[in-house]
Amino acid sequence: MKQYKFEYGDRELFLKELGAFRNQCGLEGIRAGMFQVFTEVLDWDVIHKVCGAIEEVFPKVPYMGCSTSGNIVDCRLSNSVTVVCTAFECSSTEMKIYQYDMGENSIEGITEMISEETKRNPWVKAIEMFFTIPETSTTRFCDGLKGIREDIQIFGGVACSDDITSDASCVFSKGEGISEHAILILFYGGENFYVDSINVTGWKPLGRKFRVTKSEGSILQELDGIPAYEVYRKYLNIKNDENFFYNTLEFPLFYEHNNTTILRTPVASNADGSITMTSDIDIGSVVRISYGDPGTIVESIRHDSRRIAEFEPDLLRIFSCAARRTFWTSKEPTYEIQPFQEIAPSCGFFSHGEFLRTNGNLNQHNVTLVIAAMREGEKKGGGQAAVKGEVDSLSRVPLVSRLATFISVTSLELEEMNKKLAFVNEKLRLAAIIDGLTGLYNRKEIQAQIVRALGRVKKEKFSLVMLDIDDFKQVNDTFGHQEGDNVLMALSGLLQNKGSIYMQSVSAGRWGGEEFMMLLQNTDMSSAAYIADLIRQCFANIHYPSARPQTISLGVTQALEEDTLDTLCTRVDMALYKAKKEGKNRVIAL
Ligand code: GH3
Ligand code: MG
Ligand code: MG
Repeated sequence: MKQYKFEYGDRELFLKELGAFRNQCGLEGIRAGMFQVFTEVLDWDVIHKVCGAIEEVFPKVPYMGCSTSGNIVDCRLSNSVTVVCTAFECSSTEMKIYQYDMGENSIEGITEMISEETKRNPWVKAIEMFFTIPETSTTRFCDGLKGIREDIQIFGGVACSDDITSDASCVFSKGEGISEHAILILFYGGENFYVDSINVTGWKPLGRKFRVTKSEGSILQELDGIPAYEVYRKYLNIKNDENFFYNTLEFPLFYEHNNTTILRTPVASNADGSITMTSDIDIGSVVRISYGDPGTIVESIRHDSRRIAEFEPDLLRIFSCAARRTFWTSKEPTYEIQPFQEIAPSCGFFSHGEFLRTNGNLNQHNVTLVIAAMREGEKKGGGQAAVKGEVDSLSRVPLVSRLATFISVTSLELEEMNKKLAFVNEKLRLAAIIDGLTGLYNRKEIQAQIVRALGRVKKEKFSLVMLDIDDFKQVNDTFGHQEGDNVLMALSGLLQNKGSIYMQSVSAGRWGGEEFMMLLQNTDMSSAAYIADLIRQCFANIHYPSARPQTISLGVTQALEEDTLDTLCTRVDMALYKAKKEGKNRVIAL
């Protein structure tokens, strides 16, 4: 594969340059080749002129292009309108270009067509994509391509314009013309075509986690239930003014999706406290603010450039977030990608979003650098040499990077401590309301629940059932305290049986010793008596290691509007006393 670069300034000059190129390399005779046009200028007239000139000199060669936020050729920012010709040298290499209109087709329809195309063309090994700025989330698009053959690599970028905050963008291709709502797809492949692709951010998570509690499309409304802007104001002191975009650029949100790290940058803060992000983040995602430290970013890119060098590519495609161009303004827009210059010729652009398929899942990134490496034929074995050109790594970590690490580790430790504390608190809370032996509520808690139920009794009726094991002392005396405990636990198990429809509105507590109290919400006296009798019958059928089956006596009453805790409990106690007096193993309702 070879790459030729043309900078468009004037139509006549460009025609001359193309003509000279045709005579020199005879591309017209080469079956597989194509032109890519990258334009920072969103002027259809200019685009028509560039495309017209290509068609005039190379009528059979396909071309495609998109608007950008800066064009990259050989790891340098190139002219505002740049044309790159890619020529394939192996006869087995194949390539196809498709432009799908998002107005005429649904997203599902487009992903279906792409999937079908990969099935029809088993030679496909890579898909390069150019998207116009999408009106809605690209998640549906990304998910729609899940089914395509796993070995096919997918990479690309979202077109944009020189105004990073604008929504304007376009893509175009031979025969399809210019569109503001389309997806351009390039299929590459063939027996001798090889491809590898990576993504690098270099941004590091900083500080505590937040959960996305409210969001709609790319509008992030709430984090942990508070307006998203408040998080940026409180933790980073970023004001809601005209510099919001530039100030938040160093601090995008960082989260995991499909086992891949994704970044999203705030674009604007809105009057209602929400933030417009570069793309959507699903509700429920756990995000952290991240920090871009120049030293760390450059180090991680240099590290990943090794894998690309070892691949020994003929050409590289570079899709870098427009935010990264802004981030490096104090150096050079392409400062961070310069290590790749030594590896192979490259072209690409500063984008509004970057696509990469990792572990079978296609993701749309932001603030990310996606690099695809392509090669025709086997490796020649010179890749290691290219790595030597690498600049020495930065051994002195800047202070700010150390502070970022300090904050991150401290907040992770705090999170761990908070988790342990929450666990201990929950244990203490339960210890205060639960009876240790039976696991039922203790007397204090069940009394509190009765008082609360009395407060609502006008709206919601309820009944009480008081239970006492018959001749329990004998069990203890005959078979020992342990067997007595077994009987107590068997009864508590019955009272806790939430699997039974009868027990769903029941709250049960240990009143003391072998006495229990049940609170039945929304239950009148006759239903309560019915349930009480079911429990009596069930209990009488339980078998124990030594003791024979035991019985219980039960008192039932319904709460009256004029009842107090005292009058109500006295009445249910009297019902139980009556049950004992009348011969035990029975239910009495009063
Ligand atoms: P009645 O039919 O009149 O209720 O007779 P009873 O023997 O069940 O009543 P009594 O009040 O005379 O005896 C209750 C016994 O319950 C006495 C006490 O030792 C026993 N008991 C109280 N709490 C526990 C406990 O946690 N475990 C065991 N094993 N026994 C307990
Ligand atoms: Mg008893
Ligand atoms: Mg008793």
